[in-house]
Amino acid sequence: MEMRTIAILGATGSIGTQALDLVARYPERFRAGCLTAHGSSEKLFELCRRFRPDVAALVNEPAEIPQDLRGIQWFFGPDSTVRALLASKCRDALCAIVGIAGLDAVWHALDVCERVLLANKEALVTGGDLVMAKAARLNKPMLPVDSEHSAIFQCLQARQGNPVKKLLLTCSGGALRDWKKEAIYHATVRDVLAHPTWNMGGKITVDCATRVNKGLEVIEAHHLFAMPADRIEVVIHPQSVIHSMIEFEDGAILAQMGMPDMRGPIGYAMGFPGRLPYDARPVDFAALGHLDFAAPDHERFPGIRMAIDALKAGGSAPVILNGANEVAVGAFLRERIPFGRIPEIIQSALESVPVSPIKSIADVYEADRRARAFAMGSI
Ligand code: NAD
Ligand code: MG
Repeated sequence: MEMRTIAILGATGSIGTQALDLVARYPERFRAGCLTAHGSSEKLFELCRRFRPDVAALVNEPAEIPQDLRGIQWFFGPDSTVRALLASKCRDALCAIVGIAGLDAVWHALDVCERVLLANKEALVTGGDLVMAKAARLNKPMLPVDSEHSAIFQCLQARQGNPVKKLLLTCSGGALRDWKKEAIYHATVRDVLAHPTWNMGGKITVDCATRVNKGLEVIEAHHLFAMPADRIEVVIHPQSVIHSMIEFEDGAILAQMGMPDMRGPIGYAMGFPGRLPYDARPVDFAALGHLDFAAPDHERFPGIRMAIDALKAGGSAPVILNGANEVAVGAFLRERIPFGRIPEIIQSALESVPVSPIKSIADVYEADRRARAFAMGSI
């Protein structure tokens, strides 16, 4: 089996460390040639000791690099991720940075890598048209890592050229699924970080609770699978056993199932078209007894509706949604605003920041800057 070098961008995070678990299980298949992180230097040092990459990067430069890690080529500063990726000459890049901060890495990974494994959904939410056009022009596969999109991608392998009528994205409902509207407004950081089925980074866990995450995923699915918003349906499914589904024109539906564990979708992207067994918990249907489904309640959780409206408005609207959300989620996690302000800030950014056309990556960053400035002003 051929050996693939992989750059893990955002190596210290939830997705990054689970990808490295798979690298460790398959040393004859993968070598982590490049590991990058933002500020968690001690954690990155530990990973470097274990995985011995050629290249590593930290956005925040640490006081010093430990003696035993000085053989690695180090990069520091705001563009260190991209400089490390370019220097590493890895065949694949797993983009697992959180937020629009990952867009630049995805953009450059398309130039220099054979395949991009995409966890960083915000890169598609903000730069989707440009990124997908570039991937198509360069004929580079974008392999989804987000569990719903991996599920759809897996189902699509059985498509045999048949048209897909719609995509059904499942949604756990997040930590506040059964909460009343007034209680949701004042949910604490602790309440929100207690996700029922997935263990993830802080930002995405808050996004799950507001359901902005599912909105971002509708936009992500629109770009990855060239599907209009009105053919993407969200279904609440609390057990997170069905990861998503596709429906054909004859009404037949294919679903991809499994117990929730991100190593499934990460491994499918890493090993594609093969599969990488890991110690997955089997689905015990008899013990589960039932799987539940419900329609999303857009009244208590306006996140999905706002994202679909932004996608339909086009231009910079999804960038404005994303930028305002990143600022509001950061403020909530620092306990500067109540939970209920997050959707309010996004809504007022969408109403107040003018929507402009997106023709270049520079246009994306300009719209993001405006959205952030507006959102900061509302905190
Ligand atoms: P996380 O917060 O656990 O990790 C983020 C990683 O990115 C860390 O290594 C951090 O050091 C790095 N990073 C953060 N800001 C950076 C910056 N400005 N520049 C460079 N590096 C930076 O996040 P996560 O939960 O692993 O999520 C990563 C991405 O994957 C997100 O886009 C998220 O939406 C997506 N995703 C995550 C999960 C999950 O289960 N965690 C599931 C689906 C999709
Ligand atoms: Mg997801």
